[in-house]
Amino acid sequence: MESKKIIYVDNAATTAMCDEAIAAMAPYFKEVYGNPSSLHSIGQIAKEELENFRAKIANFIGAEQREIYFTSGGSEADNQAIRSAAMLGEIKGKRHIVSTNFEHHAVLHTLKRLQKEGFEVTYLPVDCNGLITAKQVEEAIRPDTALVTVMFANNEVGTILPIKEIGEVCRAKKVIFHTDAVQAVGHVPVNVKEQNIDMLSVSAHKFHGPKGVGFLYCRRGVALKNLIEGGAQERGKRAGTENLAAIAGMVAALRIAVENMEKNAKKLTALRDKLIEGLLKIPHSKLNGDRLCRLPGNVNTCFEGIEGESLLLLLDAKGICASSGSACTSGSLDPSHVLLALGLPHEVAHGSLRISFSEENTEEDVDYIIQEVPKVVEYLRNISPVWEQLEKGERPHLI
Ligand SMILES: *Cc1c(COP(=O)(O)O)cnc(C)c1O
Repeated sequence: MESKKIIYVDNAATTAMCDEAIAAMAPYFKEVYGNPSSLHSIGQIAKEELENFRAKIANFIGAEQREIYFTSGGSEADNQAIRSAAMLGEIKGKRHIVSTNFEHHAVLHTLKRLQKEGFEVTYLPVDCNGLITAKQVEEAIRPDTALVTVMFANNEVGTILPIKEIGEVCRAKKVIFHTDAVQAVGHVPVNVKEQNIDMLSVSAHKFHGPKGVGFLYCRRGVALKNLIEGGAQERGKRAGTENLAAIAGMVAALRIAVENMEKNAKKLTALRDKLIEGLLKIPHSKLNGDRLCRLPGNVNTCFEGIEGESLLLLLDAKGICASSGSACTSGSLDPSHVLLALGLPHEVAHGSLRISFSEENTEEDVDYIIQEVPKVVEYLRNISPVWEQLEKGERPHLI
């Protein structure tokens, strides 16, 4: 029996590991297995490797070796960065934070928690294309602002924010600037010094590295606080025996990603643009997020009159693994907070489709998606009472 071809286009959720990352991990399970905190030679070999990896990571983002703290991934790095800046602010009586209304939940939920603890947060509204300006940030900063946290690139609509300019504003106003760069690092050029970044969160599994590992860059001079208490690992800022195998995998994956960035971006942009053109031929469809200022591999569209979840399930049956980008968890049918932030009406935001490519995807994949999505959309519209009302003119088309 011929096995069905699966087209994986949900790389913003996670990626398959690259062969180099898998190979890089192997020696750290049975050969270099020591605990870097041990004083004997087996431990010290591990310690040396750990610090080599830290230097390599620093080099990839224009940081210094001692400014890199390994974490369990992007969520932990976001939590630690934001909590640290909040605690530092609190010491000086600063309890105000500036962010946006379309951050990842690792940021938004940390901010919500801080609000319960007495902090005030200004959520800058993104415009209809999913962008904010440095000027908006500048105007929101107050004398009691402890932190600005704005994501580098959005995980749902793929927009790339003006990080360097926002960083410049924060430097001038002497406010700590954190960015969740989980969707950016390994995909678009990131340099913390050139882009005026004080703190930056990264996760390996978004660039073909292993899951459960990432890092936080924290500029020298910004005093990081612990989330996890225990031993003195990570310069005393993050306790727990280091996952050297995962770190090795992350370093290998990031090296490959950085070396091939230009080539990959070119390829992905071509796939992306072809898919956008194909999908927008569907009547009453729209692209979400800025047309040009977006990640090379991100396509996010809405189709009026359908449910994104039904679309996903039917596409899955055709071997296409995509995402609605919507936070439809535990039975709640709330549409994505990101699409609502862009100003889409609830009914429209429900009909979203996010396709996120990796360099493994091909033009044939795009052709197949362009062939299948219109059929599924048409099928769903034919059985949709909402679509019937729209067609009969009983309610107006919104897109
Ligand atoms: C995936 C993702 C995270 C979470 O990273 P984990 O390593 O899965 O914890 C945070 N922010 C953004 C923008 C993401 O895309």
